[in-house]
Amino acid sequence: MKKITVVVPCFNEQEVLHLYYEEMDKIMNQMKEAEFELLFVDDGSADDTLAILKELHEKDKRCKYLSFSRNFGKEAALYAGLKEASGDYVAVMDADLQDPPSYIPEMFRVLSEEPYDCVATRRMDRTGEKKIRSFFSASFYKVINKMSKTQIVEGARDFRMMTRKMTDALLKLGEYNRFSKGIFGWVGFRTKWLEYHNVERAAGETKWSFGKLLKYSFDGIMGFSTVPLSLASYGGILFCGFAFLMIIVLVVKNLIWHDPVAGWPAMMCVIFLIGGVQLLCIGILGQYLARTYVEVKNRPIYLLKETSDEDDMDKQKSM
Ligand code: UDP
Ligand code: MG
Repeated sequence: MKKITVVVPCFNEQEVLHLYYEEMDKIMNQMKEAEFELLFVDDGSADDTLAILKELHEKDKRCKYLSFSRNFGKEAALYAGLKEASGDYVAVMDADLQDPPSYIPEMFRVLSEEPYDCVATRRMDRTGEKKIRSFFSASFYKVINKMSKTQIVEGARDFRMMTRKMTDALLKLGEYNRFSKGIFGWVGFRTKWLEYHNVERAAGETKWSFGKLLKYSFDGIMGFSTVPLSLASYGGILFCGFAFLMIIVLVVKNLIWHDPVAGWPAMMCVIFLIGGVQLLCIGILGQYLARTYVEVKNRPIYLLKETSDEDDMDKQKSM
C-alpha cells in the first residue's frame, strides 16, 4: 500500500488545529487505498500549538510533529517537512483549511494513475481577500514572470501532492532564501493543475503582514532572476549617453554662439536625479550581495527543538 505524507506548517494555529485534524481524519478514513502520515511542523509557535500537536500524536499515531527552536518561516517549515517525510507521495497544505482536504483523494488518484509527478492547485478568484493585497499579488506575478525564466503560475498555492522523485529533487535545492513557488517550477516535472474558489481561513488570523509579503516577493524576484542587476547596468548606460550628449550640446553652444550655461536649479535637479539613480543601483547590488552573504554563511535552514519520534523513543527508554 502506498503511503502519503501530508506536511502541515503551523505557526500559532491553536484555534484551527482540532478542526483541521477532524477534516483530515474523515478523508484519511475514507481512503482505504492509502496509508497516511500527517507531519505537522510547529514553526516556533508562541501559543498552544505544540501542546495540541502532542495531544494529537498521543491520540493518533498517524500524526507526527517536528518543532522548531524559533520561528523560521513557512518556507523553512516546508523544507523540514519534505526532508522528514517518509511517504511515497508527499502533500503540502496549510493548517487553516484554506486548502480543502477534499482534494487529497483526487490528487492521489491522478498521481497513481496518470503520468504526472505533481498535482497542484490554483485559486481562480480572491474573494474575501483585501483589495490592496490582491492588487499587489497580481502585480507581483506580472513582474516576476517578465523577469524570470522560471514561470510562476498566477494564483498557484503551495497546496499540492508530489511523487517521491519530485520531493527528492526539491530537497536538492538547499538554499537559505527559499521561495517555494519558484522552486516548484524550477525543478520541472509534469504538473497537473486543479482549480478552486478561494476559501477563507477556518479560524485564527493570517500570519502574513504586509512587510513579510513584501520581503517574500523580493526573495522571489531576486532568487529567480538577475534582471534587476541588468536593469541597473542598462540604466547606467542610458544616463551616461544622455550626459555625454548634453556635454556636447553645451560645449558647442558656448564655443559657437557664446551662450553661457545658465541656471543652477537645473543642475541641482540633474545631480539629485543621478545621485538617486546611483543609490538605487547600489541598493540593488547590495540586495544581491546580502543574499550571497547569507547563502555563503551556510547556516542551517531550521533548528529542531523536539520531534514526535524523539518523544516516542524517550518513552520507550523509560518503560
Ligand atoms: N506559517 C508558518 N510560519 C510562518 C507563517 C505561516 O508555518 O511564519 C504557516 C501557517 O501556520 C499556515 C500557513 O503557513 O499553516 C499559511 O499561513 P497563513 O494562513 O497565515 O497565510 P495566508 O493563507 O494568509 O497566505
Ligand atoms: Mg491561510
